[in-house]
Amino acid sequence: MSIRHSRQDFLGDKSQEVLASSRIGIVGLCGGGSHVAQQLAHTGVGNIVAADFDHVEDPNLNRMVGSCPGDARLRRPKPHVIRDLILRINPEARVEIAGRWQESGDLLRTCDIVIGCVDSFTARDELEKFCRRFMIPYIDIGMDVHCVANGFGISGQVALSMPGGHCLWCNGILTTERLKQEQQNYGAAGGKPQVIWPNGVLASIAVGHAVSLLLPWNSDLPLPSLIQYDGNRHITRPGARLQFLKDVPCPHYSGEGEIGDPFFSVTSLNFDPTAC
Ligand SMILES: [Zn+2]
Repeated sequence: MSIRHSRQDFLGDKSQEVLASSRIGIVGLCGGGSHVAQQLAHTGVGNIVAADFDHVEDPNLNRMVGSCPGDARLRRPKPHVIRDLILRINPEARVEIAGRWQESGDLLRTCDIVIGCVDSFTARDELEKFCRRFMIPYIDIGMDVHCVANGFGISGQVALSMPGGHCLWCNGILTTERLKQEQQNYGAAGGKPQVIWPNGVLASIAVGHAVSLLLPWNSDLPLPSLIQYDGNRHITRPGARLQFLKDVPCPHYSGEGEIGDPFFSVTSLNFDPTAC
């Protein structure tokens, strides 16, 4: 245990080795993903796949940790800015950068955990499907600002989608209506309201989930598949739907036929059968 990480040695004797050899993918590197990247770097996660196809612009600067006006002026790709952020904190980290995650499946499929910080429901659906196929724990965060009586409401959630566990459909994050509505609004001008502090809360929970999966520091550690966030009262609690999901298996991912690489070919392996 290095002196640098001595304050987190309760995670276990070999915890830094585990973290240093872990590989975590972050998809979406702005408000939520930048917080996640920063925390994973401080924690000592050694291998990070940073995926985002976008570049930094002025409207990102209110919430993208590690970004500065010069990044926006130069329109730097977000993964480059996040790579710099991670390496400033942990020069020993290995950061692999990707644009569109859909075109970087080879990088993501070998991750131990994927954390999704994406805006759209369609992207969540696709990313969860991908993770289920390769049996990768998927942690999803999202926040929203909406009109309520007397002003605005900030809300959000963190979902943990484990292979064999409840999924984003079970937890009500994904619904047919939401996907349909999103498709109808596709191309609408303007971004959704976003601010830094709810992203920080949700990202912190996501990182806590990830470390809990890698290094459970307590055998009674609860990892609810849905945590809801009330950003007006600054409260987090297990999702209300969880009581109805108890003892009900996920009906959306049956397993067989949805697992593994449909394009896998044994000839792609670097394997010489004559050597046996
Ligand atoms: Zn489900």
